[in-house]
Amino acid sequence: MSKAQISKAQIPKSQTSKSLLAQIPQVERLLTHPDAQALIAQHGRSSVTTAVRQHLATLRAELTAMPADGTQTNVTVPDATLLLNQIGLRLAEAARTRLHAVHNLTGTVLHTNLGRSLLPEAAVEAVLQAMRSPVNLEFDLDEGGRGDRDNLIRPWITELTGAEDCTVVNNNAAAVLLTLNSLALRKQVVVSRGELVEIGGAFRIPDIMQRAGARLVEVGTTNRTHLPDFADAITPATAMLMKVHWSNYAISGFTAVVPEPELATLAHQHDLPFVVDLGSGTLTDLSVFGLPKEPTVQATLAQGADLVLFSGDKLLGGPQCGLIAGRRDLVARIRKNPLKRCLRVGKLTLAALEAVLRLYRHPEQLAAQVTTLRLLTRTREDIRAQVERLLPVVTAAVISQFRVQAIDLWGQIGSGALPVDLLPSAGLRLSPVAAGRAAGSSLNRLQERLRALPMPVVGYVRDGALHLDLRCLVDEAALVQQLPLWLGTPKH
Ligand SMILES: *Cc1c(COP(=O)(O)O)cnc(C)c1O
Repeated sequence: MSKAQISKAQIPKSQTSKSLLAQIPQVERLLTHPDAQALIAQHGRSSVTTAVRQHLATLRAELTAMPADGTQTNVTVPDATLLLNQIGLRLAEAARTRLHAVHNLTGTVLHTNLGRSLLPEAAVEAVLQAMRSPVNLEFDLDEGGRGDRDNLIRPWITELTGAEDCTVVNNNAAAVLLTLNSLALRKQVVVSRGELVEIGGAFRIPDIMQRAGARLVEVGTTNRTHLPDFADAITPATAMLMKVHWSNYAISGFTAVVPEPELATLAHQHDLPFVVDLGSGTLTDLSVFGLPKEPTVQATLAQGADLVLFSGDKLLGGPQCGLIAGRRDLVARIRKNPLKRCLRVGKLTLAALEAVLRLYRHPEQLAAQVTTLRLLTRTREDIRAQVERLLPVVTAAVISQFRVQAIDLWGQIGSGALPVDLLPSAGLRLSPVAAGRAAGSSLNRLQERLRALPMPVVGYVRDGALHLDLRCLVDEAALVQQLPLWLGTPKH
């Protein structure tokens, strides 16, 4: 503190400031007010007491900090009703829900920041049931004894993929970590330099490898890796050969990758497992639906992979989880690892996963039943029809500030699946009526308001306009209902 500040602080408070401070009610007295009782009924006694204490302390601090010369004569202490009204707003703000349903109008179907896949109704039902009722999570209904939660999923995965066994963990990152730690602790794992990817959200193959206690042996180059590169790297310390799906990037031009069957044969000649981190991992040939081709789990296993690791909430369209499918002896070793216990999934995940896997037994209905696939396979014509319906009502809602156009757009699958392949889509383009700098702030204000809606709307800005891709607009009625608030001042 400087000398000047010390001496200023020592000047006695003016009469005004002192008398104002004296007008601040006691916490206990304020709590007996009927309005405080109403707040207590709503928020509970301890939250209200804390809020009252904090509010009065803030008020006291403000009055104390007022200039001591009495220049701010218009300052008053609010009466009890007004104080409790302010405290009520503070409590309501603290009690508001943080996780909201939002409209994903980004054009990216599997948007990691927006929670990736949407669960089919059958999965929602299964989760509700598992939440409300005890379930046979680890109870063998045939024998009456203790069961393993993997038993619930094994029959579905073995039938759908041809794998001998499988286990489920929290996400695919956990599947990679657990597999490396179980099969390659203090040993070497051979991976092509072209596959040392970062997936986003800090998942990087070299880092996971290190944390798993495995030693990464890089072979080949960024763009070209050949079979002898792998063969030369195999030593007595090698634990496995591994292939990692590129996921979110592509290598094109002068490239070479070793086909899976050749890697599998090489691995097996040396009695090593060949493990594939498939990333998205679909169970169905997407090209049937007019989507770009992705290797399926069953095809990868058929090409000789001993274990295939994949996500539950990417192209599969299920809950967040990671699946490890393949050879029985390897899955058994993984299941025995104490880390498995740390990474296991709960009953809600298993309920949702089983319900989604059941849908895969009926491939003809997949595109209609699995929500993620339904959204991915929507045609541009279908989306355009929705755009035509919404164009007039959205225009009417924002006409004073924005010009609205129907526009063809290109969306993405997302979550690292097929990054170069775009989905033909359609949507609305909102460009500010204002020009120059005012246009930018008008656009920012609109986005802020859309984010503050009871059901926030998330689009993207490009070329000075807000774009709303309608591919993933699931609840059109909810969007329309909130249109009057788009230029208003909504609050969650
Ligand atoms: C997405 C992905 C992961 C991580 O999966 P999560 O389910 O997000 O944990 C790992 N490897 C690859 C190749 C991926 O594409």
